[in-house]
Amino acid sequence: METAIAHNLRLVRESLPDSVRLVAVSKFHPEEELMEAYNQGQIVFGESHVQEMTRKHDALPGDIEWHFIGHLQTNKVKYLAPYVSLIHAVDSLKLLREINRQAERNNRVIDVLLQLHIAQEQTKFGFSTHECIEFLKEGEWRDMVNVRIRGLMMMASNVDDEQQIKEEFCLAAEFFESVRQTFFVNDEMFEIKSWGMSDDYLLAVNSGSNMVRIGTTIFGERVY
Ligand SMILES: *Cc1c(COP(=O)(O)O)cnc(C)c1O
Repeated sequence: METAIAHNLRLVRESLPDSVRLVAVSKFHPEEELMEAYNQGQIVFGESHVQEMTRKHDALPGDIEWHFIGHLQTNKVKYLAPYVSLIHAVDSLKLLREINRQAERNNRVIDVLLQLHIAQEQTKFGFSTHECIEFLKEGEWRDMVNVRIRGLMMMASNVDDEQQIKEEFCLAAEFFESVRQTFFVNDEMFEIKSWGMSDDYLLAVNSGSNMVRIGTTIFGERVY
């Protein structure tokens, strides 16, 4: 008998083109539920709290790739630096410097995405497109040999208006392309477009996303 999580995961996978990577967002779900997905071959998990992710990392199989998708405080970077495989939401030079510093201490190169703030909602997280360009122009990131900027991450507005969501995803895709051509033209590692969650991932994939972060559709509602 297929478990509910195995079933949900299969349906999500069947709906995604092969070129799109799936991050199974497991925050607030217990380790047994992550194992149900792992047993179906899911290797990439996304978490948004450092302590919770570290606890799960210590308890679960070593080949799991842990993506940190939440807002990351500078003083917590040291806890995930030994093992994190991708940090999705870098939105300041200060944070990137600390990731570089902790990566160096661990003899690692840590992959990161820059978080864009395109949605209508007021939030203090993420670069505006203007700030992102300024950050890249400033250029200090080029000297940070222990971090690698792999692409961009964003969240669309949490609204029912599909047209608006599509427009935000398209804006992100256009912005990605212009950033790639301006700053990363000879860098094939700059290729990740992380957008799309349970409610909007099909729209995201249609607008060029190649990494989706899906929680509720796989694991069910979170109990906070
Ligand atoms: C929680 C979370 C998700 C997953 O959301 P669902 O609606 O459960 O799919 C994706 N991205 C980020 C940044 C999140 O915090």
